[in-house]
Amino acid sequence: MHDIIIIGAGVIGALIGREASKYELDILMLEKDNDVGNGTTAANSAIVHSGYDPKPGTLKAKFNVLAVPMFKDLCADLDVEFKRIGSLVVAQSEDELPRLDELKARAAINGVDVKILNKAEVHALEPNLHDHIVGGLFAPTAGIVNPFELAAHAIENAVDNGMTLKLNERVTAIEKLNDGFKVITPNGAYYGKVVINAAGVFADNIINMVSKADFTITPRKGSYFVLDKLPIPLVNTVLFPLPNIHSKGILVVPTTAGNTLIGPTSEQIMSKVDVGTDYASLENIRQNANRLLKNIPFHKTIRTFSGLRATPSTGDFVIEHDKYVRGLINVAGIESPGLASAPAIAVHVVNELVKDLLPLKPRKDFNPKIRPLLRLKNLTTKEIQAKVKNDKNFATLVCNCEQITKADIIDLLSRSIPVNSVKAVKKRLRAGFGLCQGGFCTAKVIAIMAEYYGIPVDEIAYDDKESYVVKHG
Ligand SMILES: Cc1cc2nc3c(=O)[nH]c(=O)nc-3n(C[C@H](O)[C@H](O)[C@H](O)COP(=O)(O)OP(=O)(O)OC[C@H]3O[C@@H](n4cnc5c(N)ncnc54)[C@H](O)[C@@H]3O)c2cc1C
Repeated sequence: MHDIIIIGAGVIGALIGREASKYELDILMLEKDNDVGNGTTAANSAIVHSGYDPKPGTLKAKFNVLAVPMFKDLCADLDVEFKRIGSLVVAQSEDELPRLDELKARAAINGVDVKILNKAEVHALEPNLHDHIVGGLFAPTAGIVNPFELAAHAIENAVDNGMTLKLNERVTAIEKLNDGFKVITPNGAYYGKVVINAAGVFADNIINMVSKADFTITPRKGSYFVLDKLPIPLVNTVLFPLPNIHSKGILVVPTTAGNTLIGPTSEQIMSKVDVGTDYASLENIRQNANRLLKNIPFHKTIRTFSGLRATPSTGDFVIEHDKYVRGLINVAGIESPGLASAPAIAVHVVNELVKDLLPLKPRKDFNPKIRPLLRLKNLTTKEIQAKVKNDKNFATLVCNCEQITKADIIDLLSRSIPVNSVKAVKKRLRAGFGLCQGGFCTAKVIAIMAEYYGIPVDEIAYDDKESYVVKHG
């Protein structure tokens, strides 16, 4: 019997798994998809919010504020791209200026450092703002992070420290036993003393398999435009309008790779799997963003996408022992700022909730770091030439847009968590994320994967297990 079974390999499950792997525990992670970090973790604004916005006294405020200072060291250990670029929420008229004071007062209660900027100061910070913008609230501790890397690298580190990861394992039923749980998937049954439910939009369904959820999770869709890398950045900070009750509004944010995200919308939907985009939502984004910034180059759009917020009926994160079934820990309703709060949520879940159920004995051999990615595009020509001398794969460019070589891909495939799909390569290395959106590199990635794994090219999936790219059979 495992000590802990974690359901869900999103950023929440990932960081909980990594935190738990600091202790002498037998941990199993079950993920329904063919890759880690494939749910909401793969489709969001990627902002490490500073924490001024959540209502004081909520778990959202508590964990967001606690997590912000953790990102620097965590991302260094896990080799995750992270930039503290600050955020700016702007007033679009004199009437909106008092709202900035309200946010400043809320920031003071939450313990977050912010500064009100006048018209000249906001325009100096963001030269592309429209002239009607009259002031702003700057939060220097906000940042941007690579969420794909954060989830995948945390899981790689947990696996390196002894955790077991199983992909393509959709939990369909859970039975309570005297000494733990029987967790059932189409592939068999797994036994664990403690179950941690980190199943994102499906977390209420997981509870109802073995207990009774006192709340519901409703998916709220957010759609985006992704712009190609621009010669001069459109924005220097995370740029927000004033928030409304449903969302932080249509924002403009650079990614750690240098693209620009514009969105998200906020649309309550019924389906927990519908991540399609539509014209009306995208037009809504375009109109709102055009009110903030001049001459947004929407013609540089390379992709649109949507993610689903796991909006709980309670209005706040649900992070607690299940009310009716001892041994089940629910980490549910983790909508925004869930990514920004994840490191602190993980520490709380392990050090406070798991500790109530299992002895926590620190592992003497815990290694907090992963083997860093090669990141050849960051090397000088001299450094690359030295590497090419030893291995010609360093000279074989696979993804022209993102400068990814065959050596980068082989290094990825040799790591301790499975890379089963073209999309997994894309999320970890960005091959296929650039201007051509994989038009030139997908075939090369498939060939390298087939060669490395010693299987035919028609067995390489794009995303889900049988989503073959080359005609199968
Ligand atoms: C549009 C949008 C914008 C956002 N922007 C931000 C932001 O800028 N900053 C921020 O802090 N937060 C943001 N968030 C919130 C943030 O993305 C989430 O809080 C975070 O990704 C939640 O992670 P998770 O691990 O709980 O969920 P997920 O990433 O969805 O992971 C849950 C995992 O559980 C798996 N699973 C589900 N059911 C089962 C089952 N039965 N068996 C096995 N596995 C199962 C799923 O496949 C999935 O991999 C945003 C969210 C959205 C939608």
